[in-house]
Amino acid sequence: MPIQIDKLVRSKRRTIALIVERDGRLTVRAPMRTSQREIESFVAEKADWIERTRRKMKSNILTPKQYVDGERFLFLGSSFDLRLVRPQRPSLKFDNGFYLSRSAEKRGEAVFTRWYKKRALEIIAERVNQFAKRHGFSPKQVRITSARTRWGSCSPDGTLNFTWRLAMAPLEVIDYVVVHELAHLRVKNHSKRFWRAVESILPDYKRQRKWLSEHGEKLTL
Ligand SMILES: [Zn+2]
Repeated sequence: MPIQIDKLVRSKRRTIALIVERDGRLTVRAPMRTSQREIESFVAEKADWIERTRRKMKSNILTPKQYVDGERFLFLGSSFDLRLVRPQRPSLKFDNGFYLSRSAEKRGEAVFTRWYKKRALEIIAERVNQFAKRHGFSPKQVRITSARTRWGSCSPDGTLNFTWRLAMAPLEVIDYVVVHELAHLRVKNHSKRFWRAVESILPDYKRQRKWLSEHGEKLTL
């Protein structure tokens, strides 16, 4: 049975891209002049990937965090136990494990999000500074976003944006996103020249990029 295309967006892009939305719907982005048949055969070729991605999303949506004792949370690529403890300030502490005030149990998502945002800013700003100094970039500032699938972006004014979810990823992966956005300060697009610039700083960047495409959807609460 052919896979249904829920939304087709045509634009000036040069290749077809498939996006499985969080609710499992399939969006196809295609160049203006690609025929319906070409699009359908592209989708058919990617049937396995679409199915796999849908399954992953489903299991993710079915198991949002509960903020209970023993639950595991990611930080810098490792996973740590959560313990609920007597009221404390701040209500979430990290010491080789997460300690959350019982009184904040119901606000678990908000408390964890705030914690990840703070860590993301500290860690990412520090990495940006290091790479910028070493390789002569001058970013304007670092901002932390709540984007779900966009790991980073580079604003025209030179501001680098990163999602707090990166605080869950291994440091090498964070470094890859940092270098990727820094490289956009010099090359705006994803041309060969851009990837060469990334590679000259991080020769094994492809491994980190692959890690993100394979594990990125786990970087969530
Ligand atoms: Zn990019």
